[in-house]
Amino acid sequence: MTKTVKIGSTIIGGSNKVAIQSMANIKTEYVDKVTNQILALENAGCDIIRVAVKDEVDALAIKQIKNSVKIPIVADIHFDYRLAIKSIENGADKIRINPGNIGKEENVKMVADCVKAHGVAVRVGSNSGSVEKEFLSKYGKSEISLAESVLSKGSALEKYGVNDIVISAKASNVPLTVKTYEYLNAKTNYPLHIGVTEAGTYESGLVKSAVGIGSLLLKGIGNTIRVSLTADPIKEIYAGQKILRSVGLDSNFAEVISCPTCGRTEYNSIALAERVEELTKNIRKPLKIAVMGCVVNGPGEAKDCDIGIAGSKNSCVIFKKGEIFKTVPFEKAEEEFIKEIYEIAKCL
Ligand code: SF4
Repeated sequence: MTKTVKIGSTIIGGSNKVAIQSMANIKTEYVDKVTNQILALENAGCDIIRVAVKDEVDALAIKQIKNSVKIPIVADIHFDYRLAIKSIENGADKIRINPGNIGKEENVKMVADCVKAHGVAVRVGSNSGSVEKEFLSKYGKSEISLAESVLSKGSALEKYGVNDIVISAKASNVPLTVKTYEYLNAKTNYPLHIGVTEAGTYESGLVKSAVGIGSLLLKGIGNTIRVSLTADPIKEIYAGQKILRSVGLDSNFAEVISCPTCGRTEYNSIALAERVEELTKNIRKPLKIAVMGCVVNGPGEAKDCDIGIAGSKNSCVIFKKGEIFKTVPFEKAEEEFIKEIYEIAKCL
């Protein structure tokens, strides 16, 4: 089990739940806009949010953003140690920094001293594209060079007494990502921030992330996840939730199962399944819902579901635990079904 690290009011590592994170994609200096985005992400289930700090204005903005949001803020800094210090002084709960690219040793020490004085955490990370030459020549392009490169960055901070460290080492290649985290899991007990970097557009990124993050989580590896998508960050949060649910790490939600449709399908169950998933995504109760194409097989196949709907000749039937209890016309199917779902959810 990894050690625990406190990030604001959230603790990751150890036996704590796997935290979902994302990164704001609005310039941090636009305080109102970025605050609204973070509030929407928080509402969707984001546990930790990262913001880009590219200059002093961004660092100062953290203080104002923190007045309105509850989730911890991670300041993402490249190259300038002064921005790391400014971000911490303005309330960042964690910084993401590469000790190797902030210049002289005394800069690393200054950041380390500031981190300790304010009790904040640090994420050190490597991507497959930023492995130091030293490790590439020693281990070649491999999981070992990627992992050892990031572990050396952790050591650079440990030297000055920083121990609240979170490690990440991502690649856009899924097998390399998985092997790297397996290696890190065996080598360090710092919490691991896992994800597949530059995973791609929504659909490609979702599949790559689900395979990479999912296979690690199934092995018990990973304490916080980010699903990197070239898409609205809200989608990253919903994708993260789906991954956690698929690997059995979250059962407090409304799961919509639906049949693949076939020649027996009696209505547009594809559209209804999508609508039902959308309209129930914020239910935080363990509820199993089925959207099935036909009454011939639907209720029977879905008899372990709390509630379900299936198509019949001229109408839809709604059933509970496989038992039909209501018939509704096609045009009222969505409305009636959603009403019944919320009735059941109220009683759970
Ligand atoms: S539930 Fe009915 S419509 Fe759906 S796949 Fe099975 S047989 Fe086909």
